[in-house]
Amino acid sequence: MKNQIKVTVNYYRLDTSKVDQCKEYNELKTRLKKEGYKLFDSISMTSYDAKVKFFNDIRNKTFEVDTNYIFDNQFNTVKTESHSGYRLFDWKEEIYPNKSIKEGYFCTGIEALNELRQKTYHCNYCGKQYNENIGYCKSCLNSQYLEENQIHLLEVTEIGKKYKNTKTSKALLKEYNKVQKIARLKKLEESKAQKLDSIKKDIAASKTKYKIFKEIIKLNVSIDNVIYYKHNDSICFGWRTPLQITEIEIIKKSIKDSTILKQYKITFE
Ligand SMILES: [Zn+2]
Repeated sequence: MKNQIKVTVNYYRLDTSKVDQCKEYNELKTRLKKEGYKLFDSISMTSYDAKVKFFNDIRNKTFEVDTNYIFDNQFNTVKTESHSGYRLFDWKEEIYPNKSIKEGYFCTGIEALNELRQKTYHCNYCGKQYNENIGYCKSCLNSQYLEENQIHLLEVTEIGKKYKNTKTSKALLKEYNKVQKIARLKKLEESKAQKLDSIKKDIAASKTKYKIFKEIIKLNVSIDNVIYYKHNDSICFGWRTPLQITEIEIIKKSIKDSTILKQYKITFE
């Protein structure tokens, strides 16, 4: 069982146009930066009511971190009976038109999460995460969309570290060529089989069509006005030009005598 990581949300709303609150805010900012927090500030897209509700819901509460997917500056919280989980930031602040108002929160107790971040690696191509440095991502190396100039993205990096464009190692390039060749051959083999299979189906359909039309010819009806549908194995009389009722009756009677045509679903237009 994974160790639980619990963090507490510390809410604040300070008016920096007031001397004491401005001092408090500056001290808070200095302290958080010193402790390694990176501020994520943004203009909220939600309504005022939704924002008030959100802050009320999370204010000074403790949440368990969902460690199934690790982000460098935010996290999901585990679902509980009362809520379906939140996306919280380590340190988040709203940007308001009134620049004096600073409202947001920071989470305490994130040391274990930071430790986990340092031990979590991810592929910069597909985003798959690994709990150790496995060198490069194995899961997308055979992707048909992966271009040679993108391979360096597969070299896994720590979640918290900025991705630096690196050159592809010779070993990885060699592995890429090997895996891609296998994938291409596999695809080629599949398409070969599919091609032969579709030709076989066409041959079978043509044989059926030949057998059917050999019988239809005997009926002395307009051949161009009869069609065989291979998708549902049926025959349609009058598909181009609708038939008269008397013509239909004559054809129906003739079909009764044909042991071959009787086996098919027959429709009249
Ligand atoms: Zn990958």
